[in-house]
Amino acid sequence: MARSPTEDLERREEHDLETGRRDFLRRAAAGAVALGAAGCEYTSQLFLVRPAPKRSGPPLPEWVGSRVRAWRPLGRTGFAMSDISFGCANLADPALVRAAIDRGVNYFDTSPDYSREGSERALGEGIRGTRRERLFIASKFCTAEGHLPADAPVTAVMAAVEGSLRRVGTDYLDLAHIHACNDLERLLAPTFHEAAARLREQGKLRFVGVSSHNPRLEAVMRAAVDSGRFDVVMVAYNFGVWPGLQDILRDAQARGVGVVAMKTLKGARHTALREFTPGERDSFAQAAFAWVLSNPQVNGLVVSIDSEAQLDEYLAGSGVPLTAADVALLERYDRLIANDWCRPGCGQCLGACPAAVPIDDVLRWATYYEHYRHEEIARAAYARLAPERRGSACASCPAPCEAACPHGLPIRAKLERTHALLAPRPLPASTAPLGLCVDA
Ligand code: SF4
Ligand code: SF4
Repeated sequence: MARSPTEDLERREEHDLETGRRDFLRRAAAGAVALGAAGCEYTSQLFLVRPAPKRSGPPLPEWVGSRVRAWRPLGRTGFAMSDISFGCANLADPALVRAAIDRGVNYFDTSPDYSREGSERALGEGIRGTRRERLFIASKFCTAEGHLPADAPVTAVMAAVEGSLRRVGTDYLDLAHIHACNDLERLLAPTFHEAAARLREQGKLRFVGVSSHNPRLEAVMRAAVDSGRFDVVMVAYNFGVWPGLQDILRDAQARGVGVVAMKTLKGARHTALREFTPGERDSFAQAAFAWVLSNPQVNGLVVSIDSEAQLDEYLAGSGVPLTAADVALLERYDRLIANDWCRPGCGQCLGACPAAVPIDDVLRWATYYEHYRHEEIARAAYARLAPERRGSACASCPAPCEAACPHGLPIRAKLERTHALLAPRPLPASTAPLGLCVDA
């Protein structure tokens, strides 16, 4: 009997890293085909929240005007979300929201700390005139300054959500996430959950969620699902990572917890994509989406969209099943980035650094700068790091971190380069968005 993509994921741990990844990807493609043949209702779904790679030229003619072709139930919420949904991290143009709605997008993910509330305002303007019940609006328990701490009082948490309501111009949020959660203290903070309960009683909030993409993602998601307090989880999920996540996603599905994927493009490293032919480059985002959505335990995906051309490109992947060609493309990408890409959730080098440089965070900010064009966010994040914990500490260091990295990353060289990129022109705090955890 053909294995499902889920079963294939589980088997990945049985293999060594490189061989196992290749085998897994191939089986995932076969499993996706088998699912389709068995009459699987949902052939694709994807969600990611982030600016993905762009074509250098205009969209392919076959992409222009593309529309959502698949909607999938989001756990117990009773809502069927567009498989490819709208991440509002870069949103500034309300017309883009209107265009997305016209094309079938019905799930929007925003946050107060995206563009210092600008994203929520643009979203609010964009959804005006659309029947509210047609849409699913997700935001975060945050302010323009960033995450609320675990000991934030109930009134502050409620005020944060009420601020989102004013900016979006709506009576209720469908979902509020504890954003970029990396510890159980914040995940289970009594004041957050008390505030959520009161907001629900008042009809201002329907569901509670948590998002995570850090080294503790699996522990956070396991606790979130087991706690029974969360209706939706939003997880970093892309081809070939998070080996322990599959059990969690299965349990989430069994308990009616919705699963939304983000960061599905695995960095979309332009250095690697440069090695691709133009046709391969054009297919990369859609292949990555198809892989994510081939897992039936993923309900949808959020990706940052900041242009009509991206709408064309991404929505062309809606409802499209994973193919063997997609898998081959993703394998090639994996080979190209093998010694260059810092794995989210790894963190194995962190304890080796005498200067306590947050290596994974700094490399993520470098990705924001170099591959996602989030230059200001990257610089702002780096500027907030204590000077003694920046890449400048690497110059006189024998780099014990590199021996601790199982993926052979040249960490010192990368951090020195990142320091040169990010340190010279830190933004003033007043203009720097704290959205250091853009979900895409
Ligand atoms: S090279 Fe840099 S990151 Fe690595 S251990 Fe030394 S100071 Fe830390
Ligand atoms: S640099 Fe290497 S060891 Fe450190 S978090 Fe990234 S992949 Fe893991």
